[in-house]
Amino acid sequence: MIEIYDLHCHSTASDGSLSPTQLVQRAQDHGVTALALTDHDTTEGLAEAQCQANASGIKLIPGIELSANWSQQCFHIVGLGIDPTYPPLAEATQNLQHTRMERAEKIAVKLEKKRIPGALEAVKKAAGDGMITRSHFADFLVAHNHVSTQQEAFDRYLAKGKSAYVATPWAAMDQAVNWITASGGVAVLAHPLRYKLSANAMRRFLAAFKEAGGEGIEVVTGRCNADEISRAAGFAERFELTGSTGSDFHSPDNQWVELGRLAPLPQHIQPVWELLK
Ligand code: AMP
Ligand code: MN
Ligand code: MN
Ligand code: MN
Repeated sequence: MIEIYDLHCHSTASDGSLSPTQLVQRAQDHGVTALALTDHDTTEGLAEAQCQANASGIKLIPGIELSANWSQQCFHIVGLGIDPTYPPLAEATQNLQHTRMERAEKIAVKLEKKRIPGALEAVKKAAGDGMITRSHFADFLVAHNHVSTQQEAFDRYLAKGKSAYVATPWAAMDQAVNWITASGGVAVLAHPLRYKLSANAMRRFLAAFKEAGGEGIEVVTGRCNADEISRAAGFAERFELTGSTGSDFHSPDNQWVELGRLAPLPQHIQPVWELLK
């Protein structure tokens, strides 16, 4: 049987718009046979996703997308095949919920100074029990006509250096990798080309990531061209990392990204799923 892997996506447990159940159903409808749910800094959606995966006959790989700092920049580390009950990981996600709430309060204060009131109440309501992310703030800014698109919300307010940006004390990269690997998972660098690093900085990061125990890198993502795949594959080869494929699906509203709609992993790259039990 041909397996179709999608090893990066989000549910309402963080900034996705589908519940874990809906997400697994949609993955199955789009031919995915093995799905990793990788919500931002939380594993809260995994139990529900597993129930639906059992019902659908699709393989669910327990995952997470951890925010982590390295050299004063935020990187996203996907954990695949993690054990969400591993106490240090469970404790870390509890702490990250507080970190995210505190950051949300500070972002809301900054928006108030820009004469944009009411953001905190709105994002708390939108996130429900899930993690509050900057995407929730972006949606709020769009809904209240302060900007016309999510992208504009980041460009004008939420991105690094903009008026409502708040630096966040995420865990150190090697700590985040360790939570993943010590729980039995594989640590994968998410969307490597999104950090806009120079070739030299990328090499330094990947050397540190390897040293910390990182074993994979996303080579194929939801919206990437052949040149980007070949650049990411080059990093995988050079640092002897396995390659992952994941759409980073958030919502059916984004017509450019679909669950399971991914280019094949280049033949010469070892697939990360060979490391997953
Ligand atoms: P957070 O982890 O709360 O900082 O939010 C990060 C999330 O915001 C990412 O996973 C994306 O979903 C979204 N995001 C970050 N930067 C941008 C951007 N420039 N444009 C649109 N969405 C973004
Ligand atoms: Mn997101
Ligand atoms: Mn990410
Ligand atoms: Mn993501």
